[in-house]
Amino acid sequence: MPYLYPLNRRRFLKVMAGGVAAVMVTGFVSPFGGGRKEVFRLALMSDTHVPEDPENAYRGFFPYRNLREGVRQVREAAPDLLVVTGDLARLEGHPGDYRTMRDLLVPLASKVPVAMALGNHDVRENFLKAFPDGPGDRMPVRGKYVLVIEHPMMRLVLLDSLVFTNLAPALGLLGKAQREWLEGFLRDHTDKPVFLFLHHTLDDSDGSLADADRFLRIVTPSRHVKAVFYGHSHVYSIQQQEGLHLVNLPAMGYNFREKDPVGWVEAGLSARGARLTLHTVAGSHARNGEEIQLNWRN
Ligand SMILES: [Zn+2]
Repeated sequence: MPYLYPLNRRRFLKVMAGGVAAVMVTGFVSPFGGGRKEVFRLALMSDTHVPEDPENAYRGFFPYRNLREGVRQVREAAPDLLVVTGDLARLEGHPGDYRTMRDLLVPLASKVPVAMALGNHDVRENFLKAFPDGPGDRMPVRGKYVLVIEHPMMRLVLLDSLVFTNLAPALGLLGKAQREWLEGFLRDHTDKPVFLFLHHTLDDSDGSLADADRFLRIVTPSRHVKAVFYGHSHVYSIQQQEGLHLVNLPAMGYNFREKDPVGWVEAGLSARGARLTLHTVAGSHARNGEEIQLNWRN
């Protein structure tokens, strides 16, 4: 299967041919904005841990209610796209978990596309049955669910670090095929900033991304990659490595420590940087509304 970018363009033009009068000023078109748009407005979530049973609780948190409230807030914020970086399902990736999640996302359906990556509590096949069509284009990486989403100003890549479901340690792996695909992709697509999304943390603990070193060796020198977003730890924190921003998103389902927020992050991405705003729905609300400005490396 070849790269699917031309399809993206064709699909978009087909939509435009439906009667909307639009003139493309630049050569590039995408489903977002339909032309040059300075800011790509994202809602970022992670670790929703949606149970099939709405009354399922953990540590006093109700992941069902938290996502329902998050969806209400995202709908109100009306971003261009919602990205969820894995651990979508409660623990074992049951089909019913994804059905419940799909039901919870219904209020967004007509307004905000939802792109999802997979975590160590997901099952790829069950996820794909509930969500057969993600936004953007699925890339030809064997056995993995990899999406590329084009915007006039930038490119988002959702990677797949799911290797074992619900095991301890909860490690993730991109694997050789995906790393090689990513390396080639980054080499061939240098005209716009790239943002990467995956589930697993990138430190050296046993439950993190097992090939984090090899991943960072590809990504860090690729100066057009500006930031990597991930979840897994249920902690909201931001680091930098050689100017590359590493954004650990808070969990949506529950925290592990009382001091951590539970919620989502609104992100306005531009060619120069991003403004992140935290929206809490549970856990510690101390940082609710906190804004962080990131500036991209050159
Ligand atoms: Zn999680």
